[in-house]
Amino acid sequence: MWKKVIVFAAVLSVLYACSKVAVTGRSQLSLVSNGEIIPMANKEYVEVIKKGPLSTNQEQTQMVKRVGVKIQKAVEQYMAQKGASSELAGFAWEFNLIDDPKMVNAWCMPGGKVAFYTGIMPICKDETGVAVVMGHEVAHAIANHGRERMSQQMIAQYGLSTVSALMGQNPTAGKELLMQAVGAGTNVGMLKFSREHESEADHIGLIFMAMAGYDPAAAPAFWQRMGQGGGSEPPEFLSTHPSHGTRIKDLQGWIPEAMKYYKKQ
Ligand SMILES: [Zn+2]
Repeated sequence: MWKKVIVFAAVLSVLYACSKVAVTGRSQLSLVSNGEIIPMANKEYVEVIKKGPLSTNQEQTQMVKRVGVKIQKAVEQYMAQKGASSELAGFAWEFNLIDDPKMVNAWCMPGGKVAFYTGIMPICKDETGVAVVMGHEVAHAIANHGRERMSQQMIAQYGLSTVSALMGQNPTAGKELLMQAVGAGTNVGMLKFSREHESEADHIGLIFMAMAGYDPAAAPAFWQRMGQGGGSEPPEFLSTHPSHGTRIKDLQGWIPEAMKYYKKQ
């Protein structure tokens, strides 16, 4: 009997804790608020940047920052048009390039803190390629994928439904969960996001890059290069990412919609 009551209560609290993704309208589990997760993310970001080391390649560093600011402006414009500017409350955008040629990765934390690793730069090839990745990673943050994953893991791994309970019980685990949830954990890269999250980030990312003045038609070519391994590391992310053909096909299907937002620079 009690077991049933507890399960019922858990289901009920989860139902109440659903929110909607701003762009796609999909319902998602949300036990963590931006007010809770952004200060944690900001603290972790300071540590990541301190450890760095930051790239000394000024040309690439400036490119990442330039694209970042353009994508940020596009996001702000997009959210304003949707009447969803309040979702960006607490965002303090920052864009850095970390020197690690073996890391074929980039991520964006809740709150807009972005890191690129030098390992992904050859696959980006040019500024438009950087915009593909930037749009995609920022889309994960805007769609609150990190929050959603952290919520799922809190329930699944710890049976806890609030951040304060988790941090009270095990602050180290809380921080690790956050880093994994945003794809910035030590061993996880772009590979750990679910297929659903990846598709959503691909779709939204195309719109952001187009609004920022980058041709969205360049996105499939980037993912093709990524699929071919690009760097020295094997393309691990392929195993959990949408199957390559599906991803390219989906992207091509979304390009006409993204083109409506495209303002050529
Ligand atoms: Zn992704």
